[in-house]
Amino acid sequence: MLIDPFQRKISYVRLSVTDRCDFRCTYCMSEDMDFLPKKDVLSLEEMSRLCNTFIDLGVRKLRITGGEPLVRKNIMQLFNSLGKQLGQGLEELTLTTNGSQLGRYAQNLYDSGVRRINVSLDSLEKNKFKKITRIGDLDKVLEGLMIAKKVGLKIKINTVALKGINDDEILNLVNWCGENKFSITFIEVMPMGEIGEKRSNQYMPLNEVKSLIQKKYSITEDPLRTGGPARYVHCHETDQKIGFITPHTHNFCELCNRVRITCTGEMYMCLGQEDKADLKTPLRKSENDQLLKNTIYKAILRKPKGHDFVIERRKNEKFIPRHMNVTGG
Ligand code: SAM
Ligand code: SF4
Repeated sequence: MLIDPFQRKISYVRLSVTDRCDFRCTYCMSEDMDFLPKKDVLSLEEMSRLCNTFIDLGVRKLRITGGEPLVRKNIMQLFNSLGKQLGQGLEELTLTTNGSQLGRYAQNLYDSGVRRINVSLDSLEKNKFKKITRIGDLDKVLEGLMIAKKVGLKIKINTVALKGINDDEILNLVNWCGENKFSITFIEVMPMGEIGEKRSNQYMPLNEVKSLIQKKYSITEDPLRTGGPARYVHCHETDQKIGFITPHTHNFCELCNRVRITCTGEMYMCLGQEDKADLKTPLRKSENDQLLKNTIYKAILRKPKGHDFVIERRKNEKFIPRHMNVTGG
């Protein structure tokens, strides 16, 4: 079992299978991103072995993320192999996706054992969606979402609240999710990576989002805690769960149960800190998993108490140099 110095049990791994993406969301990446050379990226077999080792060490939930995980070639191989671990230690296999390839993969994902997915969607207006993602086609994403719903995948929409960009769509997004029986979680923008503009220009605190929702809907606090950063409310009119991820207005670290692994096998013990452990070397050095397990145990002892994000309008912004697509959301 993996226990960190603050007695938090690590039972959740998020694995980024690629840093590449078919979108260039303005808050996530700069327009001309450099991606990692393919030779540095772990093979799908190596990723599967790494995940199995974590399952051996007590991890119960795996989330596949990126970049855009569904643009990784032969990605279903990994889902099919990890799906075999469900019920054998692994309790849940999930995915975070931008939805662009869902139409193609939804049924395969369900067949591999995936039951719930997170889909990022920041606007329901075609032109604005294109502006935010720089490339994305809203119709394709919506079509993929409906196929995913039809095959039986439970869907949570993730929306990054962006000041002056999608703040006029908050109620519409809540309403649309309610109609489609999707839950929705709003996220405060985090200062990760240089994006060519000040983060404070995009930052919208979620208490403003909550106030907007309360103008139309009656909501009550939901005590549900998933070990993740979200706090939830129940919306009575739409009978739906609404989550808020608020790294700035509320620190969410005290219950953190997760670590994140990049597609090159670097483990970040905290999304908002730079300390990392190299898992690729022990993975490749020996076919026996003991060296890898020892490396993981040692690194977990360095898991910090919390993140270090700061966005302040008047002070200098402190940001993590890594873009979000490296460690995944
Ligand atoms: N491409 C997939 C997607 O967009 O869902 C998975 C990876 S993406 C990095 C994961 C999540 O991180 C998305 O919900 C995205 O909106 C969020 N995200 C990206 N950059 C962010 C930032 N700087 N602050 C807050 N959330 C961010
Ligand atoms: Fe790609 Fe997801 Fe980042 Fe958007 S948020 S650029 S879809 S990795």
